[in-house]
Amino acid sequence: MAAYPPEITGPESERLTEVVKDWSIAHGLTVRPPPAVLAADADPGNILATAVPVTLFPSPFPRVCFEQGVHVQKTYNELYASISQDEEFLTQIVKEIGNSDEFTQALWKVHLRVKEEGYVQNLSLGLFRSDYMVHQESASSHPQVKQVEFNTIAASFGGLSAQTSQLHKYLSSAEYPLLSASSIGKGHLTLPDNKSVRGLAAGIRHAFTAYGESTTGHPKCVVFLVQGGERNIFDQKHLEYEVAGPPQSVPVFRLPFAQATQHTRLADGGPGRQLLYTPPQLPHLTFEVAVVYMRCGYGPDDYPDAGAWEARYQIERSAAIKCPSVLTQVAGTKKVQQVLATPVGAGQAPVLHRFLSPASHAALGDLEATFTNIYPLDTSAAGRKARELALDPEQCKRYVLKPQREGGGNNVYRAAIPGFLRSIPESHWDAHILMELITPPAVRNTILRNGALESGGVICELGIYGTCLWDQREREGRGVRHNEMAGYLLRTKGDQSEEGGVAAGFGCMDSIALV
Ligand code: ADP
Ligand code: MG
Ligand code: MG
Repeated sequence: MAAYPPEITGPESERLTEVVKDWSIAHGLTVRPPPAVLAADADPGNILATAVPVTLFPSPFPRVCFEQGVHVQKTYNELYASISQDEEFLTQIVKEIGNSDEFTQALWKVHLRVKEEGYVQNLSLGLFRSDYMVHQESASSHPQVKQVEFNTIAASFGGLSAQTSQLHKYLSSAEYPLLSASSIGKGHLTLPDNKSVRGLAAGIRHAFTAYGESTTGHPKCVVFLVQGGERNIFDQKHLEYEVAGPPQSVPVFRLPFAQATQHTRLADGGPGRQLLYTPPQLPHLTFEVAVVYMRCGYGPDDYPDAGAWEARYQIERSAAIKCPSVLTQVAGTKKVQQVLATPVGAGQAPVLHRFLSPASHAALGDLEATFTNIYPLDTSAAGRKARELALDPEQCKRYVLKPQREGGGNNVYRAAIPGFLRSIPESHWDAHILMELITPPAVRNTILRNGALESGGVICELGIYGTCLWDQREREGRGVRHNEMAGYLLRTKGDQSEEGGVAAGFGCMDSIALV
């Protein structure tokens, strides 16, 4: 095969651009345009969707790395279910994050309040995504994936990711064979199946069934709790439609978090605390909410006032199965990832042993192989070493500093680290972790963004989705009711950019060509 992906120019790139744009609109590989575009529209509300940034070709990705990520996902699911069951461990984590992180403290208070009166729902749902980059020690060594982070709340792009895989499959059969510069026709590329939408929806459906029968006489439903003005709405829509069915029909509603307490309430009388939802568009109907799937609530911006925290509290104390619960959300902090990855002293059992059933201990090495160096920034021995690295003008260039935040745009990179640390009180440093940068070998590709093509070196981030439903109380047998790998995401960014968020405008959607 000639060089892949091929460099294309002139009429060929124009044609491919048109084909991709049309396919994207026709298949919902789309986002809402930014407010500025909507405002400039002569007919407000006319432009509802625009094609998402995407690579023209699926990026080459080492097969061993893809298989490594797929292989460990179910163990990761079990691990995070188990961490979420371990309140003692999480209490310690929240303590170590410290009081300077008001958001994590406020979140933890929600859990403590509900714990005091007792939880009425023991099942917990996780729609997880473990993110990786390729690491290669030297040109002669095998590439491996190293984990960037593990997401336990609002892990996005499962919807758009399945569509991107479909787009690239379509192009490889219908369009690439027509390119003069290449021989990448049908059968020349190995494009793995991506069941992210079906997989994630199956997780929600499992929880919907496991909730049992409605006890209030109202039909059951699933609520997607969302941010107001969400631009990444179509990603969520793909999932909503899949959950709604066919084959079985499941009522699914979108509810903006800011309106949660206005349209939901707990059932009166009795200890059941069933969550009841009356859709504003169907005021004569009431549903019993079986599953609350959160695509919001992961950062301080979603909690502008005490009312928002009350809304989170109402959901947490209700009988609905939460995806995620507060405990599961806290399990997904970068602090937890650091504690798992930081080696323990000689003679001590690895922290991982605490969470995995003996049957999974064999998989321990597989998990550890995905870890990269992560340090605390506290006053422990490891923390003091990390502080030295972080403040050193040369050493710091190999690191990224992360607060306990989600959603992109929160990290501090390389040479900016010392100045950042000096700009905040030293007592706040332990709310951050220091992580070695993973530096994947760049590949070349062409990105189509806002109608324009950009060619050059790109860096890919793999995400593997996992779904897990478990009982919070069953710690002995781990209580896992459902545990599946649920497809993948490939996000790609220019190799000059630190962050790769698609929604944040840094990266683009991609899919995998196995090499
Ligand atoms: P968030 O929860 O906000 O998505 P991440 O830990 O995923 O936070 O960091 C955001 C982005 O920063 C990642 O998508 C990746 O592009 C980059 N990044 C984070 N950690 C590393 C790392 N160790 N090596 C290289 N890039 C990283
Ligand atoms: Mg994250
Ligand atoms: Mg991330």
